[in-house]
Amino acid sequence: MGLNTVFPSAQPLLPYTTHSSNSPELSMTQMNFSSLPLSAELLENIAAIGYEKMTPIQAQSLPIILQGRDLLAQAQTGSGKTAAFGIGLLHKLIARANQTQALVLCPTRELADQVSKELRRLARAIPNTRILTLCGGSPIKAQYASLEQPPHIVVGTPGRILKHLEKGSLQILNLNLLVLDEADRMLDLGFIKDIRFLFRRMPHPDKRLSMLYSATLPLRVTELAYEHMNNPQQVAVDTGKVTAHRITEQVYYVSNPEKIPVLIGLLSNLEITRCIIFVNTKHVAEKVCGYLRGNGFNADVLSGDVQQKKRQSILNRFTQGELPIIVATDVAARGIHVDEVSHVINYDLPEDAEDYVHRIGRTARAGASGSAISLACETYSFSLPEIESYIGYKLNGSTPPPELLAAEIKPPEKRPTDGTRPARRNNPRSGNKGRGRHSGHGDRNKQRNPG
Ligand code: ADP
Ligand code: MG
Repeated sequence: MGLNTVFPSAQPLLPYTTHSSNSPELSMTQMNFSSLPLSAELLENIAAIGYEKMTPIQAQSLPIILQGRDLLAQAQTGSGKTAAFGIGLLHKLIARANQTQALVLCPTRELADQVSKELRRLARAIPNTRILTLCGGSPIKAQYASLEQPPHIVVGTPGRILKHLEKGSLQILNLNLLVLDEADRMLDLGFIKDIRFLFRRMPHPDKRLSMLYSATLPLRVTELAYEHMNNPQQVAVDTGKVTAHRITEQVYYVSNPEKIPVLIGLLSNLEITRCIIFVNTKHVAEKVCGYLRGNGFNADVLSGDVQQKKRQSILNRFTQGELPIIVATDVAARGIHVDEVSHVINYDLPEDAEDYVHRIGRTARAGASGSAISLACETYSFSLPEIESYIGYKLNGSTPPPELLAAEIKPPEKRPTDGTRPARRNNPRSGNKGRGRHSGHGDRNKQRNPG
């Protein structure tokens, strides 16, 4: 079956360069930080952290920031953006005024936490710099308390920052530094309205220094930059290793009772490193996860019901490769920012076409390739025409090949899903042996006879 190779976004994308998200493969220039006109304290601290040479995006963007010019930078995840804008921010943050001077907007809580951590490391050079993280999912009351003394730098997600502005707990009238980190992802996640609103509450573009970083520069990102920034200078990293963002997409037409057998058939037959299975309801998430565990797969549920602490532990295990499969609802998947997701499976097609794009965008990140497989079932296949018209092409569809339906399915594991139980198997495919003894579940999920 010929798979459809496409770009994951309906927007035109520029090809972009890639880096591994891990520092060992970070590419470096021959330029030292010490060649920059930075304070001795900041330079000493950069050296103490262990940074000597600049990465390409640092070498290209820092001189522009230090000159006080707005910046539009195209840079892939893992290219050292945080230190690029972080050093820029700390250099400009000389006046120790008791007010919020810098705002860093991030698409997810996980990224905001990472950025805060790196900024705090860099800020050790400048005593008494107050850096505060403001994200949804944390109790807002505690955030009010920490805002009583205004932080110099606020890092957070657009929705929560907007809430603080509305409540009056955060003032950004004297803001003179702004960073939009991973702008394309923020727009993907639907933050565009919040961001536009935030822009309107800030000082005029020529009264602040604005930096926008994005892995891709679709039209809506550059539009945002030109509307709300002051003649930004554009830079892009070029390592010569240009990789297109490729996703292969496939749809299987299935009846409702075939969904579990086909899913298990897929997981048994695919080379999975990390897989996110999307479902439309929490109830189905639990059911699917139960079947996966009952059939020997190591999976966990990420739904809106999962508490922040457990959610973080599930995401950590997923990132570290201890947990190969997550069953997620759309809302719960928003914070997932993991580069090596090899497969996205839409167990349920989303009812909203835009969610399809968000979901499949979880794979093939950071220049890797990935695969998105959707089950078009009796209940949700009505979304398919809308999805195809939204993405602008027809998806490759077929009935599932018989081998996906060949195996017998064991009953679901009874135990409720619990993120803290020890990982059972690291290899998602290792649980297949021993199947075929019985099919103990009711008629509704009875497998189709492939013959
Ligand atoms: P991005 O924000 O582009 O995804 P990060 O800022 O998280 O990338 O940086 C990726 C990794 O590279 C981090 O571990 C960071 O500590 C490391 N790093 C960044 N700049 C340098 C540098 N100049 N020298 C060595 N390591 C660096
Ligand atoms: Mg980053």
